Amino acid sequence: MLRFPRPPLRSALVTGVFGGSLMSAGMELIGTESPPVRFAGLQLTAVGASVARNAASGAPMLSDITLPIYPLYVRVRPGTSTPITARVSVMTATRLATLLTAGGHPTVDWRATVATGAPVLRSPRWRLPSESCPPPCEGSFAQHNAGVIVYSSSAGTDYDLRRTLAHESLHLAQQTRDALLDAIPASDAALGRLGTSGRFVSRFFVVDVLMPLRAVDEGEARIRGASRRNSWYETEARAFAPGGALR
Ligand SMILES: [Zn+2]
Repeated sequence: MLRFPRPPLRSALVTGVFGGSLMSAGMELIGTESPPVRFAGLQLTAVGASVARNAASGAPMLSDITLPIYPLYVRVRPGTSTPITARVSVMTATRLATLLTAGGHPTVDWRATVATGAPVLRSPRWRLPSESCPPPCEGSFAQHNAGVIVYSSSAGTDYDLRRTLAHESLHLAQQTRDALLDAIPASDAALGRLGTSGRFVSRFFVVDVLMPLRAVDEGEARIRGASRRNSWYETEARAFAPGGALR
């Protein structure tokens, strides 16, 4: 592992803030709801999170950048012996396998998948069963979970699919931020502790289960007695949408 001399606190802070503004800019792009910029928005969010992460660990700003093309995390480390590597997100791969093999028979929307940078599936169901919208509510139009977006058939007809996918892509950007800041470093640290076999696994896989920001978000909403809809993640995602709230 490369070690860098610690930069002065001020420059680390400035770099961290710069990373934060790149993340916001990325989410703003997704929030424009324009499909051609959705992929760029996700990558910009990831560059911002990488810059913030590098600043926190004292590494040069662009020395280690992770770009998500779910279910892969592509890692770019300029000037090293392996400048570009890719690893599989265990969470995304598991979620994708579960969705494609379970009942309901969703199909891959390749066009939306390419535009988003993550698997987008179309479910034949009219609405998707949802914890935040239990009966008599008919369920949700679309859902993001672990790097995979599923939308229902109602989202493509009586609802604006473009807005729906932009909203779910904002959750994807939140997930990416959590993965880069916490889950990927935690996976590397945990696997690194397992010795040679752990390090071997970590060359190909990221066990991206640890999402503390997400846990705090859910816990905080529960303590407040707020519905899922008014959680911090939902509020943040809606804040980037030009058209106001999505249901
Ligand atoms: Zn949402």
